[in-house]
Amino acid sequence: MYDFVIVGAGSAGCVLAARLTEDPTCRVLLLEAGPPDRKLEIRIPAAFSKLFKTRYDWAYETVPQEHLDGRRCFWPRGKTLGGSSSLNAMMYVRGNREDYDAWAALGNDGWGYDDILPYFRRAENFERGPTAERGTGGPLNVAELRDLNPATEAFLRAAHEVGIPGNDDVNGSAQDGVNATQVTQKRGRRWSAADAYLRPARHRRNLTIETGALARRVRFDGRRAVGVDYVVGDQARAADATREVIVSGGTINSPQLLMLSGVGPADQLRAHGIPVVHELPGVGRHLLDHLSVVSIVECNEPVTLAGAESFRNLGRFLVSGRGMLTSNIAEACAFVRSRDGLSAPDLELVFAPVTFLQHGLEAPTGHGLTIGAVALQPRSAGTLTLASADPSCPPCIDPRYLSDDAGEDLRVLVEGMRRAREIFAAPAFERYAGAPTYPAPLPTNDADAARHVRRYAESLYHPVGTCAMGNGADAVVDSSLRVHGVEHLRVVDASVMPTIPRGHTHASTVMIAEKASDVLRR
Ligand SMILES: Cc1cc2nc3c(=O)[nH]c(=O)nc-3n(C[C@H](O)[C@H](O)[C@H](O)COP(=O)(O)OP(=O)(O)OC[C@H]3O[C@@H](n4cnc5c(N)ncnc54)[C@H](O)[C@@H]3O)c2cc1C
Repeated sequence: MYDFVIVGAGSAGCVLAARLTEDPTCRVLLLEAGPPDRKLEIRIPAAFSKLFKTRYDWAYETVPQEHLDGRRCFWPRGKTLGGSSSLNAMMYVRGNREDYDAWAALGNDGWGYDDILPYFRRAENFERGPTAERGTGGPLNVAELRDLNPATEAFLRAAHEVGIPGNDDVNGSAQDGVNATQVTQKRGRRWSAADAYLRPARHRRNLTIETGALARRVRFDGRRAVGVDYVVGDQARAADATREVIVSGGTINSPQLLMLSGVGPADQLRAHGIPVVHELPGVGRHLLDHLSVVSIVECNEPVTLAGAESFRNLGRFLVSGRGMLTSNIAEACAFVRSRDGLSAPDLELVFAPVTFLQHGLEAPTGHGLTIGAVALQPRSAGTLTLASADPSCPPCIDPRYLSDDAGEDLRVLVEGMRRAREIFAAPAFERYAGAPTYPAPLPTNDADAARHVRRYAESLYHPVGTCAMGNGADAVVDSSLRVHGVEHLRVVDASVMPTIPRGHTHASTVMIAEKASDVLRR
């Protein structure tokens, strides 16, 4: 018997498990479908893509995307302690004040920027030191990259030359501008949510962690959630929660688990023979993601991360936590406005001092430089629906990329490719930036750039919104993250974000869980 059963030991689940068990009388069971996070590649920042399509990855795929030439997109998702924070690119980017003020304006009291800033600050240990926006002493270590690549230094200078101002802290009072990426690392190693929160808490007598435990459904007594049924290997198990069940399975798995448990669009549940506990049409709707497209040129100097996998680099990493293997690949980022008249950035330019193609699954064949353009405020929204009543069967993921009527998402990415070309051509890059390789030649008109986007754009791995917080007909949770229409059940993870922040979603997910833990401890 537990007070809380938490499903999913990802960015949010680790925070909750640690915070709730600070009270020694509170008994928590944390269920994680994946294995423990013991693999060396989890620790090595530059190796994150080596975890894709392994047992540490759910390795999802979207349905064919009509506006991306009918392609299916690969969606990695972490399946281990730490969840996606154990295989992400470690970029610490909170987003913009406007993002959170928009959540509050949608009727979500307590989620405006001034309300949530204390949770961002409480969560982190910013190595550079505290400011009005930045915190120290928290579990989540946020560091500067230790060995910035010389090509990244050139990118920063080139960005200045084309008019993008430097910004000492894109997580500070203003987001516009360019700087080297801040990373969730400590002493050059990945610092996942499991490292930050779970490891210090795991020996507590009131915390039980089960790995390899796949939740099949939330069990209800009437409308009250009372426990979770799960499987370990081929063994069926059940756990009771006297206070609450908390679903933290992430943007794909949380809505799937709600639907498998009878909470969701009634017609869809019935079609799969699932008894309806509560009809909630918004479950799985409103899927938002950041779409990104890369431009790549050859690098004239042999300085890139193509040479990262040497014994010498491994030795440096293991002995001193330094060298190329400490790179998170995406070493710098710029936040810009794609047109006049915007009140905040809507375009991110991410720089990698290496050829980064096919999610890094293809090893680079030579030295290259990559600029990825990211549409930060997508208008296109999609859906997640059940493919089967079998919990081990992946749901249908349809982000409907580039489906917005105005074509604004495509325009932003085309503009991003134009800015990438401009940066590659800036004087500071002369020494490094060589011939274009992808696409070759770099498109010089919008129609060619649009063709490239449709052919090659991929997810930046930030899906949110499938259990959106709000009060309208499509809302799934209220502003305390309680699931509408049932009792003693919450969703706490990236799926509750009602809109997508202009940032990377790990920081905001940790913030959400920190805030939820306060509500739960009250
Ligand atoms: C490749 C990649 C790169 C990324 N890069 C960045 C980045 O650089 N910076 C950034 O801020 N964000 C990044 N992100 C996004 C960020 O990591 C996620 O938004 C964030 O980790 C989501 O947290 P979560 O708690 O919602 O879900 P997750 O961290 O995904 O956790 C969900 C957990 O629940 C478990 N689970 C799911 N279903 C069940 C079930 N039925 N039973 C038991 N357990 C279950 C999963 O195995 C997983 O461990 C990246 C993501 C990916 C995949």
